[in-house]
Amino acid sequence: MSATPECDSTLESSLLEARGRFIAKHPRSCELHNQARTVMPGGNTRSVLYYQPFPIAMEKGEGSSLWDIDGHEFVNLCGEYTAGLFGHSEMRIHAAIQQAMTRGLNLAAVGRAECELAQIICARVPSIELVRFTNSGTEANLMALTAARVHTGRDMILAFRGGYHGGVLLFTPQGPSPVTVPFPWVVADYNDPDAATAVIEQNRDRLAAVIVEPMLGSGGCIPAEISFLQALGKATRGAGALLIFDEVMTSRMSDGGLQKRLGIVPDLTTLGKYMAGGMSFGAFGGRADVMSLFDGRLPHAGTFNNNVLSMAAARVAIGEIFTPSAAEELYERGERLRASLNDRLMKLGVAMHFSGVGSLATAHYRAPTIRRSYTPTAREDGLRELFFLDILQAGFYLARRGMIALSLPVQQSDLDRFVDAVDEFARARRRLLGPLNAVA
Ligand code: PLP
Repeated sequence: MSATPECDSTLESSLLEARGRFIAKHPRSCELHNQARTVMPGGNTRSVLYYQPFPIAMEKGEGSSLWDIDGHEFVNLCGEYTAGLFGHSEMRIHAAIQQAMTRGLNLAAVGRAECELAQIICARVPSIELVRFTNSGTEANLMALTAARVHTGRDMILAFRGGYHGGVLLFTPQGPSPVTVPFPWVVADYNDPDAATAVIEQNRDRLAAVIVEPMLGSGGCIPAEISFLQALGKATRGAGALLIFDEVMTSRMSDGGLQKRLGIVPDLTTLGKYMAGGMSFGAFGGRADVMSLFDGRLPHAGTFNNNVLSMAAARVAIGEIFTPSAAEELYERGERLRASLNDRLMKLGVAMHFSGVGSLATAHYRAPTIRRSYTPTAREDGLRELFFLDILQAGFYLARRGMIALSLPVQQSDLDRFVDAVDEFARARRRLLGPLNAVA
């Protein structure tokens, strides 16, 4: 990494220098962004991919490597925000998609692949007795929430500050975002069992469901405490409401999701991201008495719900590649990576650490342990950007917010180099990070 050790420079001047370096190295991405801005607001069509001064445009990917349109190569640790679990070129997934194409697209009929895929999911995920497919995790959550509302005959939903359940199901650390669908929401703090139990009790006549990620994903890879999830289970059962685990990100934590690892069984579960090997995908499932609403009484439409590419890819991705042992191995790799990163940072005594579970982690610029999502300070925002720019310069592509999602093809040697690059960042930016004990 080319970052020079520094003593006296301020965060702002370090950022200016890092941004200048980034701009100089990415003229083609800059030009594409300027063109895109004339036809798409913000120059993009997926908000998370935008960052200042402009986002890098990628040309191609292979295994766990990416090449941008300016010709730079990166180790991909962004992992398509968890949807890229299989990397860019898993040949068994490519073959499944190609074979599906040879049988023809858009058959407007049920098929074998969706039945086999449903059998695999029902056999693996403890809470799922019956399942249906959607195009995205957002849709899966909308359908699960709807199922809960119809099943209970109630309308209100409890979600958690900092939770993310899709493009129209976004909860900032303050509460629902203006883009969030107008269900009657109540919100509580993550990992606060007493507060959540009190909200459930207060709304017991109106509450249809509690929706929760067993680890806040985009909210900062913050794990749920088991006692919190257990309390949600107890309180929802007591109030006759349904508990929905959004496992769109966390289902990778074992062959049966994080719920299997934690031994907690919700009423409904939603899935998505990597499951169709990189094709569009979502699924919602759970208790047979709730899901059987969709046996004809309640419609569940969607032109692409069982599209042949996603179904064929998912059957191979989940059924043949992401086996229970592959899931376990990836989980352990992620645990080891986070331990090595935190060990180095702890030894340096800087206020930076990685939170997470298994193969998902996020960098934070404050002391561990973080229990809920927070609005970063201006200093933390600056450090996030600086880390992103420095680590790009070192050849690693991450989510701009500092999130890592490991993919199966990532080489151990690349992860070792990444730990060294983070160590070098922390040494070079030591003054800016500040000592561990001085930051709340
Ligand atoms: N739920 C969680 C926990 C997610 O992380 C996401 C996406 O990041 C979603 C739901 C929405 O999934 P999709 O982007 O497929 O709509």
